[in-house]
Amino acid sequence: MIGLGRQFHGSTCVKNASPTMGNMVMRILLLGSPGSGKGTQSSRLQKNFNVAAISSGDLLRRNIANGTEIGKFAAKEIERGAYVSDNIMIELITNELRTIKRKNWLLDGFPRTINQAIALDDNLSLTGQPLNLVINLQVPEEVILQRIMDRWVHVPSGRVYNLSYNPPKRPGLDDVTGEKLSKRTDDNAEIFKIRLQKHRELTEPLLEYYSKRNMLVTFTGSTSDEIYPKIEGELLRRFGVENFNQGGRPEIVNEEANNIPLNDV
Ligand code: AMP
Repeated sequence: MIGLGRQFHGSTCVKNASPTMGNMVMRILLLGSPGSGKGTQSSRLQKNFNVAAISSGDLLRRNIANGTEIGKFAAKEIERGAYVSDNIMIELITNELRTIKRKNWLLDGFPRTINQAIALDDNLSLTGQPLNLVINLQVPEEVILQRIMDRWVHVPSGRVYNLSYNPPKRPGLDDVTGEKLSKRTDDNAEIFKIRLQKHRELTEPLLEYYSKRNMLVTFTGSTSDEIYPKIEGELLRRFGVENFNQGGRPEIVNEEANNIPLNDV
């Protein structure tokens, strides 16, 4: 699967330029193995760009915390590293997509199977708002296991912390609300192996699915810090959007990135 889509290995740096309003709508999917940093990249994109985000894992964890029927069912599957059924996931995300008020959005963790991808395509084409970019995060496996062992989450918001490189300001507490952080039931070495296996079997085929549709871009790196500027560069190139926290739009300084044709936007 590694050869699919475009790959960025070189350093892409982003610098400030004059403020410009973006004029293309972003409908993005984040793909990547468990622990590849989808949640971290999603948080940064929400902070720096005008995007709403839906994380299927966060939605399920909130359902579990709230004791809903879906939550009860999902808890069993998540604890053993299995996937929640396509029917449940498709209904959950379809309903959630209806609640999104912003034009720009990103999906993290859904779709995870070809059936889910087809259902999503069908659903989005009904509203004339297809996905226009699929970002695949590629992180070495040996890095990922350590990361998930150190990972803590704030379930209500989905905020993710890492004890090694992104610890909470106060141990065990969310920086924003001061509420308790928790360890995910599926973040342990044994279940992680099963999750990786499921990812290889059921989710990696999506890379080919989206590559064939000319929507896939793969970014490789060992840390989210290394990968994030590459994503910003791609958003500028594709959508002309600015990072409003930098007070201007990011400008790519990377020959390779500048030479890529714009597709499907
Ligand atoms: P995540 O937070 O994205 O790693 O998801 C945690 C777990 O929730 C996964 O290991 C699955 O058990 C379940 N899950 C999340 N999204 C999906 C999906 N799209 N399809 C099936 N199961 C999912």
